[in-house]
Amino acid sequence: MMTSLRDLPSVDSLLKHADDLLVRFGRPSTLDALRLTLDETRARLKRDGQTASPSLDSILASAESRLAAWTTPSLAPVINATGVILHTNLGRAPLSESTIRAMNAVAANYSNLEFDMATGKRGSRLIHAEAVLQNLLGVESALVVNNNASAVLLVLSALANKKRVVIPRSQLVEIGGGFRVPDVMKQSGAKLVEIGTTNKVRISDYKDALAEPTALVMRAHRSNFKIIGFTEEPELAKIVDVARKSNVFVVDDLGSGALIDTAKYGLAHEPTVQESLAAGVDIVCFSGDKLLGGPQAGIIVGKKELIDRIKKHPLARAVRADKISLAGIAATLLHYLKDEAEREIPTVRMMSLTARQVEVRTEAWRSALGQGEVVKSESTVGGGSLPEESMPTFVLSLRVKSPDKFLAKLREANPPVIARTENDRVLLDPRTVLDDDALLRVVKEALRAYR
Ligand SMILES: *Cc1c(COP(=O)(O)O)cnc(C)c1O
Repeated sequence: MMTSLRDLPSVDSLLKHADDLLVRFGRPSTLDALRLTLDETRARLKRDGQTASPSLDSILASAESRLAAWTTPSLAPVINATGVILHTNLGRAPLSESTIRAMNAVAANYSNLEFDMATGKRGSRLIHAEAVLQNLLGVESALVVNNNASAVLLVLSALANKKRVVIPRSQLVEIGGGFRVPDVMKQSGAKLVEIGTTNKVRISDYKDALAEPTALVMRAHRSNFKIIGFTEEPELAKIVDVARKSNVFVVDDLGSGALIDTAKYGLAHEPTVQESLAAGVDIVCFSGDKLLGGPQAGIIVGKKELIDRIKKHPLARAVRADKISLAGIAATLLHYLKDEAEREIPTVRMMSLTARQVEVRTEAWRSALGQGEVVKSESTVGGGSLPEESMPTFVLSLRVKSPDKFLAKLREANPPVIARTENDRVLLDPRTVLDDDALLRVVKEALRAYR
């Protein structure tokens, strides 16, 4: 035993053979990895009382796997074969090519982020996405922040601190990830005034509440659930009308921020930003990375007088969007302005695919893999949008010995594939898959390894 311990190479002698590791991983990490590997080997030899000490090559190899594990990013791309288009756990919206190019360009270079090209003086970062939003939606003013949760917090903090905000009980929603409308209101310092009941709110409820001095009427979209049956809610335009008469502004948290009518794809109609503006709402806020299909952002649009107040609030600085998201949001919005969203924005394209188009791809997958069945199924929008709504789709249904083990195998692959199971079958939905070849390569390999 003592012999083998003495036979262990020193760190210095290992370093002489570690040029490749030094180049790939740098000196400090390589040294750490070699020391740790040696410590571990020494401990094992002592414990097991083995006589043969491992070769220099095998010590270098285990140091290398350690270094590889340390330097592999934990956040990495996966293939989404679940058929859930805006899968929050899988990063919501994949971006359009020109969005990625725009983000890449400002990331890799200096930019005119806060520089006025006409005067050569300091400019504002806020103008970049604002101009596209003004063109697209005809709004007076706009502001882009970190995400929609911060947009709502900022709007309420700037416009309703210590003041009354009227909202129906049916809209006191939890969006997920701990975002609860009543809690956000409290955080902003606004005084929550609940009206109506869980299922019904009438225009008279608004009128009664507005008899006292009030800062805002708020509407929060029930993004991820539905109230059905014995329900009532006045039209937005009527609410705006009543609020106007009391000189109270209306804020609409739309959540998803659809700019095109989802009914066009056989889904329920998701309220659009344009509809809220047409109803006369003063401020609309929505997400950049839900139905809009862009990078993470919160978009606030509406009346200049209010948005100027919002821009000046100290929180605006704390939740401001970075230059890369600003470039990305502007590029994504341009697709809408140029009426090419369906062709260019991946999430919109996925929604627009007909069941027949998906079926053709599923057939091609089956031929390429030489197994599985093409069966009817449902894709969903996800991302807390359009609850209970689904689109007819076709999936490749694979029969394997243990579906859960096979899913695990797919998750271990490179790139990992995320799929789902139903009735003891593994289902792969082409609707949300961006690269069919990559998916087929992984599934073929997993099937070969898993008999
Ligand atoms: C999703 C959602 C939010 C939060 O938006 P993020 O962009 O995820 O921060 C806020 N309000 C509503 C109604 C939502 O649906």
